[in-house]
Amino acid sequence: MTKTLHPSLPQPSSTLSHWHRTTRSFPHLHANRLAPVPTSTKYLVIGSGISGALTAWKLIESGVKGEDVLIIEAREAVSGASGRNAGHVRPDSFRGFPGYAARHGSEQAKKILENERVVLENVRQFVKEHNVDSDFNYMRTFEVALTEEFADILAKAFEEFKAAGGDTSHIKFYEGEEAKRETRVPTAISAYESPAASNHPAKLVQWILNDFVTKGGKLWTHCPVTNIVPAEKSNEFGSRWNVQTPRGVVATETVIHCTNAHAAYLLPEISKFVTPRRSQVNSFVPPLSLSGEDTLKHTMALRYKPDHFFSVNSLKNGMVVLGGTGTRSTSDQSSDDLISFDDSKYSDKLAQNSLNELLGLCQEPDSTSLRHGEGLDHAWTGIIGMTADNAPLVGPIEGLEGQWICAGFNGHGMAIVFTCAPGLAKLISGQSWEDTGLPECFQYSTERIRRHARQSRESTL
Ligand SMILES: Cc1cc2nc3c(=O)[nH]c(=O)nc-3n(C[C@H](O)[C@H](O)[C@H](O)COP(=O)(O)OP(=O)(O)OC[C@H]3O[C@@H](n4cnc5c(N)ncnc54)[C@H](O)[C@@H]3O)c2cc1C
Repeated sequence: MTKTLHPSLPQPSSTLSHWHRTTRSFPHLHANRLAPVPTSTKYLVIGSGISGALTAWKLIESGVKGEDVLIIEAREAVSGASGRNAGHVRPDSFRGFPGYAARHGSEQAKKILENERVVLENVRQFVKEHNVDSDFNYMRTFEVALTEEFADILAKAFEEFKAAGGDTSHIKFYEGEEAKRETRVPTAISAYESPAASNHPAKLVQWILNDFVTKGGKLWTHCPVTNIVPAEKSNEFGSRWNVQTPRGVVATETVIHCTNAHAAYLLPEISKFVTPRRSQVNSFVPPLSLSGEDTLKHTMALRYKPDHFFSVNSLKNGMVVLGGTGTRSTSDQSSDDLISFDDSKYSDKLAQNSLNELLGLCQEPDSTSLRHGEGLDHAWTGIIGMTADNAPLVGPIEGLEGQWICAGFNGHGMAIVFTCAPGLAKLISGQSWEDTGLPECFQYSTERIRRHARQSRESTL
């Protein structure tokens, strides 16, 4: 069955992430992997990442019966970006403002950044209220400039955000020796501190899925949705769509696309709007000078250039996770190679670059010699869903009545989805866009998709 899968569907031979390797006993990991799909359901969610799991969970919380919601997942549960990211819930406090303002205007740009602060609080509350054991650790994060060029870029972005009336009360600025001391980065030029969290993403989403199943929700894994066609006659739910899979057809009234980077496979109209990008993450057991009482107690983004940075996440158990672009000059990963749905590959060179970056944080020179068991623990990749205007797609899909989407998180979804998925559940339940509290620029519209198509046509003339 899997041999004939289309290359833009999730690929079965993906790498396992650190998060996957530490949660193999999740009882619903391979739920219903051999069973035929139910013949009908009222709500059908495609994708078991944080978007799909939380939308389904919120629907039940809003009063929908658990048995009326079915999640279908192409691979094992939480096998997409939600299970293979860098483990950061890290709101962008100001850095992205100029880029968002150029695309969406300064009011929307402020709303985008405000939304990320709300997400951090929502995740914090959720984990606390439900006692979720996901190693959630609320702590300081730093935007660290490692070049004068990037220090200027950050300073300009900060001033623009402030001048536009953006709230900077939660941001602290350091430079020179103070920046080095606070961040523990010997080469820091400047640094901006704000709140963020480290979180085991697979444990969080697995908790949500487990609770969903406990409440009667249905989960089908290892079952890619291959097509959606209009239903000819109504079933008990007044179905509008027949959802095709290798294990049967599900008739449903409501289809909810939570397929992130893979969204365009089932929605070809957005194929130029949502595109894939492979990204690598590496986990490390730190050496002496970054362990014990010297364990990093904050997270960071170490930035050389806009497209050359490392994210540094310090886990509760003392391990360190580095994501980011590494460097574009690596000979073994061309930019074409990055545009890929294939998360079965990883680069040794990018892992080595990350290790070098980590060792650069060790302040004692002799502590960079590694004992067996220290250093690189694991490397993996995942597929990011990039969108043409850097904002996610949320809401009803015009022209496809009964189909909805929550996708395209530009490699930053852990700081965005916790308002988008609840917002989508509200929209599906009949509430208005205003009720979601989301930035208007997140809303799906044919005009938004067409505008981008027009712009890319014009730019190629
Ligand atoms: C390497 C990497 C590092 C990242 N680091 C961070 C970070 O530190 N902080 C942060 O905020 N964000 C980070 N992100 C982004 C974040 O992980 C995503 O934005 C977020 O997980 C998106 O969640 P999702 O549920 O929308 O998508 P996903 O988790 O990708 O879920 C989509 C699911 O849909 C399934 N699917 C797709 N098509 C089909 C189909 N046709 N049939 C059935 N199932 C299908 C997939 O298998 C997948 O499980 C990172 C992403 C990557 C790849």
